Amino acid sequence: MTAERESRVPLFGLAAEHRSLAPEIEAAIAGVFAHRGFVGGPEIARLEGDFAALCGTEWAVGCGSGSDAVWLALAALEVGPGDEVICPAFTFFATASAIERLGARPVFADIDRATWNLTPEIARAAAADCTRLRAVLPVDLFGRCADAAGFEALGSELGVPIVSDAAQAVSATDGDGRTAGSRALLGCFSLYPTKNLGACGEAGMVVGHDPALRDRVRALGQHGHVGDGVYEWVGINSRLDALQAAIVRAKLPHLEKWTLARRENASFYDAAFAAAGATTTDRPTADPDWRLPLRTPLPPEAPARHVYHHYAVRVPAERRDALRRHLAECGVESGVYYARGLHQQPCFAHRVRGPLPETESACAETLVLPIHAQLSAGQRQRVVDAVLGFFDA
Ligand SMILES: *Cc1c(COP(=O)(O)O)cnc(C)c1O
Repeated sequence: MTAERESRVPLFGLAAEHRSLAPEIEAAIAGVFAHRGFVGGPEIARLEGDFAALCGTEWAVGCGSGSDAVWLALAALEVGPGDEVICPAFTFFATASAIERLGARPVFADIDRATWNLTPEIARAAAADCTRLRAVLPVDLFGRCADAAGFEALGSELGVPIVSDAAQAVSATDGDGRTAGSRALLGCFSLYPTKNLGACGEAGMVVGHDPALRDRVRALGQHGHVGDGVYEWVGINSRLDALQAAIVRAKLPHLEKWTLARRENASFYDAAFAAAGATTTDRPTADPDWRLPLRTPLPPEAPARHVYHHYAVRVPAERRDALRRHLAECGVESGVYYARGLHQQPCFAHRVRGPLPETESACAETLVLPIHAQLSAGQRQRVVDAVLGFFDA
């Protein structure tokens, strides 16, 4: 207990996770060294099979990273120069850089304040201004699915494919209980070490149902090679590393337990903060009539399942940095995702058409707290005490 009191509460649980799994991970690595199929070894097809089963898709194709997964999905749909792709401005950089690197234009759309996600309604309004719309790219931000059914309908209405960036949402489910990434034409995942299911290096996955798209994603990740020395497209070199596949496969049997632990931690925070006067993110952040200016993430209604890649709260912008400093003094790590909207990034200055108020307020008000499966009961109580201590609640 004393040691725990003195130690920091980390934002990610990698150290504890790897301590607990060391024998399994070492055996997985030894297995790859035994056959030395570092690129193309049997672990890759096995993980792809397991991952497709987890997602409820026909297939999964491994690749070098989540960033490449988004690029490969868009390239497989032949998104190219001059095309427009709608995506949220409040997301990780890679969602939009994939569009830009294909020569296409990311059309930055705003988000819904309660869920931090792009909605079909917002995307429909953005589509009205497009002349060469080729795809819509919603993101399941922080581990909460965007409205997959709504996007499916929007895709049919607009006659464009939906590509899902589910990098943060492995094993989350949507409002119909279907798995993140599985309802889009192509779903993209990251297995970056700090994601909910992480490798010990870079790795990613694309999932889908159409076998022709599977073959194209696979070929594009091998320079566009379709066999017999023939290159149909100019692709990239982005294959899943066998060591990473073996490690992720060793972790996969633990994923559900970790997801339940994250969800349990979230319920604990929700209840503790609500008892002190917090309300949820569907309410305005600043309102002097409410007891505590802290907004906890609005949980989706079952069967939707939030997997809490991040437990994000909103606090008044002018107090966020002071809260972060206070948490750091209490030994509690926190994080800001994302400090700027993508429409405010210098590299996208030529793409911007107008202010995105919800994205900008989210950038100023959002703070993420430790939620990982390795948090102890004492650590999560320390997080609550430190947050409430700041507000004097
Ligand atoms: C992490 C992430 C990616 C990129 O994944 P990498 O594996 O880091 O390349 C893409 N989109 C989102 C929303 C992410 O969170």
